[in-house]
Order: sequence, then structure tokens, then C-alpha cells
Amino acid sequence: TTHDGVTLACEQVVRRFGGLKALKGIDLGIRQGEIFGLVGPNGSGKTTLVNAVTGFYPPQEGRIVFEGAAINHLKPYQVAARGIARTFQNVALFKGMSVLDNILLGRHIFMRPSALASLFYWWWAQKEEVAHRRQVEEIIDLLQLESVRDEPVDVIPLGMQKRVELARALAAEPRFLILDEPMAGMNQEEKEYMVRFILDAQEALNLTILLIEHHMDVVTAICDRVAVLNNGEKIAEGTARDAIKDPAVVAAYIGK
Ligand code: ADP
Repeated sequence: TTHDGVTLACEQVVRRFGGLKALKGIDLGIRQGEIFGLVGPNGSGKTTLVNAVTGFYPPQEGRIVFEGAAINHLKPYQVAARGIARTFQNVALFKGMSVLDNILLGRHIFMRPSALASLFYWWWAQKEEVAHRRQVEEIIDLLQLESVRDEPVDVIPLGMQKRVELARALAAEPRFLILDEPMAGMNQEEKEYMVRFILDAQEALNLTILLIEHHMDVVTAICDRVAVLNNGEKIAEGTARDAIKDPAVVAAYIGK
């Protein structure tokens, strides 16, 4: 059961690394269909929160509830199987493989407990193609990757590589998508394209999105609501416009 249309809830989530408390009891509720921004200075805990949600670094205290069920004890591939996909801050594609194969691999790599199983899956999917191809073709079309589909992924521009990562995440058919700085290293034009593609994907595939983003112009343009983290704590939440005016947020950004 979901409360007030909340799809993903964090309840008092704590994550420690040795003596460091990277998340000090985070409460968060992300509603069905919204784009929720996660902002805050470097080292404030944004990626740690994503790693907690996706099972990479499970919380030591608190709960994470997705579509009414606790997921905070699940392994990453189990979280993925529930319908949560993510992209990474740094491009993490398979060099030497084509754009198409990288996207195809997204249909299973995060859902299998071992890399070997993933490779078998990939081999099988290459042969089985038809059903998978149809779904992958839709994504290629949506993200306009047609012209580079057979190129090795490492020879295309960075902006496009980020788009392939998005495509790979979408290939897993998630309902909830986490984007970790999808515009990092992009120029203005690439940023604008990426915004467009994110909005198109959200609409076409009916996604709820958690977006970590440094570019505040992007955040104010596309996020329905945001939460601001500082030092492992949530210091503000609301519309982007209100949150950036919050005195605690201003203080956190200018260094207290
Ligand atoms: P942000 O994404 O907001 O820049 P992070 O979540 O990456 O912040 O980091 C929050 C804090 O947790 C930082 O002090 C960082 O050094 C620490 N941290 C993150 N991951 C690890 C890890 N795997 N081991 C030890 N410390 C970590």
C-alpha cells in the first residue's frame, strides 16, 4: 500500500562508513510520476542515498519502502528486478561493444547475480533478438540514437555516451529511474538535449524520476520538488524555487 501516492519512501535512513555518518536519518517521500531533485554540496550524501536505495550500500538503520514493500535488505539486482534502474555519475559503458549491444545488455545485466550469467543472457538475447529488439528499438528511437547504433560506444561524443547510459537504464523497463548527474561534463546544447530526452522518456514510459543534479537551472526547470542535503541531513524540501531561497540552503552552499 502506498500513502498519498508515495512510490518511494525513505524512513530515518542511516548509513555509516566507519566512523563517518554519511546519512543521519533521512526521511523522504517521492510521489508517483514526479521528477524529484536531490541537491546539496559535494559530500552531502546524495550518492550515498542513491546507493542505499539501490542496494549497493544498504542502510544500517531505517527503512526504504518501494511501492509498499521494504527493499532495504535487497541486493542490487533484486532492487533492479523490482523496477528501479539507475545511471552512474561516471559513464560506465562496455568499451568496444556497440551502442546497440550496450543497450541490449541493459535488459539484464543489473538483474542477474553474476557477470557470467549476464554474458550468457547477452549471448542468448543476441539470438533471441526479436522481442528484445522491438523494445530496444523503441528506446533507440525515443533517444535518437539511430545514427550511432552500430558504432563502438567509446568513439561517440561524451554527451551521447550519457544518452546511451540512459537508454541502457530504460532497457530494463523500470518504473522508477535514478539519474546521477546526467548532465555532468556537458555543454549547454548537450544539456538542453538531455533535458528534452529525460522529459520525453518520462512521458513515454510513465516514469517516476529521482534526479541528482548540480545545474540549478535544470533543477528549477524540470523538478516538481526537491530535497536539499547537507552533511548527511535533509535541510530543506519543497519546490526548487522555494528551496534555493531557504536560508539554511543558502548557508550550506556558501560554506556556513
Ligand atoms: P555527494 O554525492 O553528495 O557528493 P557522497 O554521498 O558521495 O556525497 O558522500 C557523502 C560522504 O560519505 C562523504 O564524506 C564521502 O567521503 C563518504 N563516502 C561515500 N561513499 C563512501 C565509501 N564507499 N566509503 C567511505 N566513505 C564514503
